[in-house]
Amino acid sequence: MKKTILTNWRVVIAIRPSYTHVKISALGFTGLDSDLDGTLTGPDVELSVAPRPLGDLGYASMSDRLISDDVDGDYRRRCEAMLAALLREPHVRSGRVEVDEESWCSHCDNRWEEMTADEAADLSTQFDANSFEGEPVCCREAIVEARTARGIPAPAYMGGAS
Ligand SMILES: [Zn+2]
Repeated sequence: MKKTILTNWRVVIAIRPSYTHVKISALGFTGLDSDLDGTLTGPDVELSVAPRPLGDLGYASMSDRLISDDVDGDYRRRCEAMLAALLREPHVRSGRVEVDEESWCSHCDNRWEEMTADEAADLSTQFDANSFEGEPVCCREAIVEARTARGIPAPAYMGGAS
């Protein structure tokens, strides 16, 4: 079975450097003579901002799952609130919420991969004539499971459907 988690929630914003009035000393260039502490300029730059972990309470830190029974929903809401607040700032030109999806197989723990339409139709890559687009490719258990759900027999060389 395909198992999926969402990870790396983030808010991506494009900011106009000259509107920030930020001195480069604020970016960690410490010890500069004040005459050398210039302000940012140039074209818009994109920054990714990770939300504070749900389990980070300031005075204590614990697992997200102990704090929330809807971790993904809470991260999405936190990121959307961050985005809304950031977009009210004049130097923020645009923004969006992004997240990565990671999928793996519950049977073999390998990264989840599926056959493409071309691979399913190609004699050199299909398991047999019943291969289909989206068929898992990692292990026998996943293939048989996906085929059973569609009423397709297991590939002959892998043995019958169990
Ligand atoms: Zn597998």
